[in-house]
Amino acid sequence: MKCGSDEAKGCSMNNTVPIAEREKFIFINSKNGKKGTVMCDEESVSGSVSQRACVYCGARVVLNPITDAFHIVHGPIGCASYTWDIRGSLSSGEEVYRNSFSTDLRERDIIFGGEKKLASAIDEIMEKFSPKLIFIYSTCIVGVIGDDVDAVCRTAEKKYGIRVIPVKSPGFAGHKSMGYKAACEALVTLFGNEKKGKVDGINYLGDFNLSGEIWILTEYLKKMGINIVSKITGDSSYEELKNAPKARLNIVQCAGSMVYLAKRMEELYGIPYIKISFFGLEDTKRSLLAIADSLGDKDAYNKALLLIKNEEKKVKEDLDYFRMKLKGKKAAIYVGGGFKAISLIKQFNDLGINTAIVGTQTGKPEDYEIIREISDEGTVVLDDTNPYELEKFMKEKDVDILVGGVKERPLAYKLGAAFCDHNHERKHPLCGFEGAVNFAREIHQSANSPVWNIIKNERKGSEWLWQEAL
Ligand code: SF4
Repeated sequence: MKCGSDEAKGCSMNNTVPIAEREKFIFINSKNGKKGTVMCDEESVSGSVSQRACVYCGARVVLNPITDAFHIVHGPIGCASYTWDIRGSLSSGEEVYRNSFSTDLRERDIIFGGEKKLASAIDEIMEKFSPKLIFIYSTCIVGVIGDDVDAVCRTAEKKYGIRVIPVKSPGFAGHKSMGYKAACEALVTLFGNEKKGKVDGINYLGDFNLSGEIWILTEYLKKMGINIVSKITGDSSYEELKNAPKARLNIVQCAGSMVYLAKRMEELYGIPYIKISFFGLEDTKRSLLAIADSLGDKDAYNKALLLIKNEEKKVKEDLDYFRMKLKGKKAAIYVGGGFKAISLIKQFNDLGINTAIVGTQTGKPEDYEIIREISDEGTVVLDDTNPYELEKFMKEKDVDILVGGVKERPLAYKLGAAFCDHNHERKHPLCGFEGAVNFAREIHQSANSPVWNIIKNERKGSEWLWQEAL
């Protein structure tokens, strides 16, 4: 339901949205409302401080976790420094991906072109590091001056016999989702157009190995007798990625960034895909069974049932304790993709927490339809929101905790609310069974910290002093 639609009438908040054009991106959940299109997956409204990153940044976060890839950012130094070691992805091997290389374009290059500088940057990297794979990112200014990055890449590939892949990501070409697509296209270029052979196993798309999460899931799949051919892209390597077209099935965790690639791989190599999520018990259990089911593997299915039984037993006591501590709390969610938001609502439901606000940067209509179904009456749903709106609704709903990324953290603290980082900077794994316990523990430790009452009391005190002064 759109905020401005007939079904949404009666929502007292509609008339007070700070930017009128944003009204259609906001709705208040109503079980009686018709199923309908939520305005989403559109360009951000001018004047709204969107929390989305630029196209280049979207591409970089997808490709950065490839552990032995070199990333040359063709643009001014700021683009590279802004995304330096951005992901927090862990590696079981190489660490070169944690560096950033830049052509550091200056005024002279903008006037006369930056192709020569880019070619010499590739030469320098070849001389010092002899890489097998380099990604070259086009940034805003390269889109403006029109350097032929493709030609520089082709020449370098011939000269050195390695892969040098252009990533078409000028920042102004759209928003973060366009960057995801640019990264997926770069991966397709890496894979090639043909399926050369078959391997009995699956590709795991859209896990970036934050805090080692991919290692937990790899263990689960190993216990089910399922082999991962290629991890895309957390803790992956050039050699591993080359085998991706040979897999039997693609499973997609971060749908926002990787469904595009899954569809392209289905077209090119005939690999079917399923969306899964390993956040929260409900989705973890469903996903493990769905993988075995999609492979038509009865043995894997039975092993998954056994794994679920054993793992649930291990986490039950801890989760019951946190359920008791968290019952009745109110949460706000603002994350990148729709699939994560959906899993988080389910996790909060399981913990007895009401999701009062939920929003995403890149959610799709089908994601918002599920959100509408599983969230409570009156939940505020926001697409591509800005700090002003988030603040307004967090105050109105008086939430105890905000789950988001690094850009949302200061907002929560300023409002005297707890915060849980569910993005690049998370410090412990939040996926699978043990991740569900880590998540519940973090929410408990943060939301039930005594500091929030101290702040509330301090604020009451200063309001009183202020009134006295008047
Ligand atoms: S918006 Fe443009 S200039 Fe800014 S970081 Fe992105 S690519 Fe670079």
